[in-house]
Amino acid sequence: MDTDQLAQQLAKLRERVRLGAEKSQREPAEIRVLAVSKTRGADEVRAAAALGVRDFGENYLQESLTKIDALDDLKLCWHFIGPIQSNKTRAIAEHFDWVHSVDRLKIAQRLSEQRPAHLPDLQLCLQVNISAQDSKSGVALCDLSALATAVAQLPRVQLRGLMAIPAPADTFARQCEPFAALRTALGQLQANLPELDTLSMGMSADLEAAIAEGATIVRIGTDIFGPRRTASNG
Ligand SMILES: *Cc1c(COP(=O)(O)O)cnc(C)c1O
Repeated sequence: MDTDQLAQQLAKLRERVRLGAEKSQREPAEIRVLAVSKTRGADEVRAAAALGVRDFGENYLQESLTKIDALDDLKLCWHFIGPIQSNKTRAIAEHFDWVHSVDRLKIAQRLSEQRPAHLPDLQLCLQVNISAQDSKSGVALCDLSALATAVAQLPRVQLRGLMAIPAPADTFARQCEPFAALRTALGQLQANLPELDTLSMGMSADLEAAIAEGATIVRIGTDIFGPRRTASNG
């Protein structure tokens, strides 16, 4: 995708966010657009940064480290949003600003221990298995409160909120259901953890529903960068 196309895609996306916010009487500025740059090259990220995007989301560690290093001059905000294996936590703690996909205490403890002291606290969201889809990622709702309480006590990390990737749904109303459940879950946690302020939810196909239900970060790949490349051609 060339820079003109990217600029058009971004303009369309920002208009969707603006309209979505307006419909729910929210300020567009409350909604942070995270450009999901997995499978995209450093050149594409640089082009998006030149168009004003500051937040980028990555799923695959090796690929992301190369990009983060190549784009060090831009001082971007990097979010890790993929599944996390224990042996990857050190590199994540050293190179990312946010992690959205924490779903067990052991991972949070390792990120906390491995976050370098000279960096600001690592910002964390807990990934919730909200529509109980077969994907193994995400803490079950019944275990969420205990996990949040434990993670909130760890040093060098700051628990900010919740993230979910619901199963695809074909109507707006159905898309809203899991996002509303995530909003409710955050509200319950806020009784004891009033500092929580983040709902990371909504992707290209369901961002309007997510915004209607209170998303503060939407994670957009396809509708910014175009269809994803597969391993064979990218
Ligand atoms: C790939 C990905 C996205 C972006 O999905 P699109 O449908 O391309 O917008 C968002 N969140 C996560 C966790 C992802 O893996």
